Amino acid sequence: MLQVDVRELRHGPVTTAGELAPADPLFEGLEVPLEGPLTVGGTLERAGQGGFFWHGRFEGRVRSVCRRCLTEFVQPVEQSVEVMFSADEDLQDDPSVYPLTEPLAHVDVRPAVREEFVLAVEAFPLCRPDCRGLCPKCGADLNLGVCECGTPAV
Ligand SMILES: [Zn+2]
Ligand SMILES: [Zn+2]
Repeated sequence: MLQVDVRELRHGPVTTAGELAPADPLFEGLEVPLEGPLTVGGTLERAGQGGFFWHGRFEGRVRSVCRRCLTEFVQPVEQSVEVMFSADEDLQDDPSVYPLTEPLAHVDVRPAVREEFVLAVEAFPLCRPDCRGLCPKCGADLNLGVCECGTPAV
């Protein structure tokens, strides 16, 4: 469950676990095609008045396009997440705090998953660390060898 009933949280930490399919509405509008579901785990617990701390993690695989050679490839995405959810308006100015609205019935960790997922996959994707990219002149993929135009590799 990625939506936790606050009554459950009165008794102590609650395990959050779930799978989000690529077609889940949560990912709507994101230009990040998931290969298979995103697996989410973690623990949610109370932290002060109207506040909850989520120590979570997610993992999955996404299709990316290499920034250098424009080849499409699949890369694993794995991320630990530590975020606060709070119904306290004083805390909601803090951009790292996810707001909850009163009356408090559920804590939904999915908005945090969405945001942290976007941050995790927007990191500069390269098909491999030493990708040589494309020739700036003829556009040939320099990973495949020296191009025909003969422009020396930089
Ligand atoms: Zn590349
Ligand atoms: Zn060339």
